[in-house]
Amino acid sequence: MKRIAVLGSSGSIGQSTLSVARSFPREFKVEALSVNSDIVKLKQQIKEFKPRLVCVINKEAASKLRSDLGSSIKVFCAEEGLVEMVKDAKIELIMFAISGSAALKPLVSAVKNGKDIALANKEALVMAGPLVMRLAKKHRAKILPVDSEQSAIWQSLGGFREPDVKRVYLTASGGPLRNLPLSKFKRVSLEQVLRHPRWKMGRKITVDSATLMNKGLELLEAMFLFGLGVEKIKVLIHPEALIHSMVEFNDGVIMAQLSAADMRIPIQYALSYPRRLINKLAGIDFYNLKEMHFEKPDLDKFPCLGLAYQAAKDLGTMPAVLNAANEVAVNNFLNKRIDFLSIPRIVEKVMRRHAKTANPDLPGIISADAWAREEAAGMCG
Ligand code: MG
Repeated sequence: MKRIAVLGSSGSIGQSTLSVARSFPREFKVEALSVNSDIVKLKQQIKEFKPRLVCVINKEAASKLRSDLGSSIKVFCAEEGLVEMVKDAKIELIMFAISGSAALKPLVSAVKNGKDIALANKEALVMAGPLVMRLAKKHRAKILPVDSEQSAIWQSLGGFREPDVKRVYLTASGGPLRNLPLSKFKRVSLEQVLRHPRWKMGRKITVDSATLMNKGLELLEAMFLFGLGVEKIKVLIHPEALIHSMVEFNDGVIMAQLSAADMRIPIQYALSYPRRLINKLAGIDFYNLKEMHFEKPDLDKFPCLGLAYQAAKDLGTMPAVLNAANEVAVNNFLNKRIDFLSIPRIVEKVMRRHAKTANPDLPGIISADAWAREEAAGMCG
């Protein structure tokens, strides 16, 4: 029985994680849950999974939950609370399904406490990848990727390492705007962007899929997770989203990981690793699969991917700046304060103004993040 915590349990990945836990009651015991503010959903999850600990980031929602539940369960509150909760001695594996940079401090805390990490959040690693990986090694915390592409690279590597790898093909569905001509991008609406053809996900990541920034963040994530140089990673558009990524080795052999586009599959593998548990999820019907398509990404249409490649070459504080500016711009797009084309424009401007630090520590990363947020917010006004 593995004792797990699910952070961000009301979100899309969080709920899918609980669905996996539900299917294997003898394998996983949910010890802790966290949400940002959705205590209605959290209460249902508490009723079903009976965790010992919960954390609510929003302070008002946390005190409401405390008065509703009485003393039956320990309720942590805010980021400091989450940083504490992940230290709990009984928790063995923590699913990080919080979206955005809010995951960074709790992630560092969990890693320093030697927990196994199922990592769905990509922003924390993009911001502080070298630092997080160094700490993970030092404290023997395993980082198990959940993002479908990183899970695919991990599985395709099959224990081989960077020197054996010629290149990695990081696949991308291409998002909802793949077939839209560039001339129409100016008038792209929020509703159009939120209609993703393959994956049903949270709003922030769906916008990132439309700009291809999501693939850019994954490029950085893959570099840090697997110790790969940027020159070894090629983004490949694959609209069917059946191949979740591929590794080409020095001898020309290519290993690919295929499965249905269902996040419960990589979630289950991260939770059950190194075992493979029998499930009832759908597979791929090859007899009825007519074709698979591949394309080169169009960087004129999707400048965010080019910006991520730039940050991947610059490194230091630049990935954190890219990520922070993007979070602010996407948030403003979601609130209809800026148009779609402003997202890459803002990210590019903030990156251009940034004076990079080469080997930042955690405070250095956090201050670069804060600086970039302020800059980006100023451009959205
Ligand atoms: Mg992905």
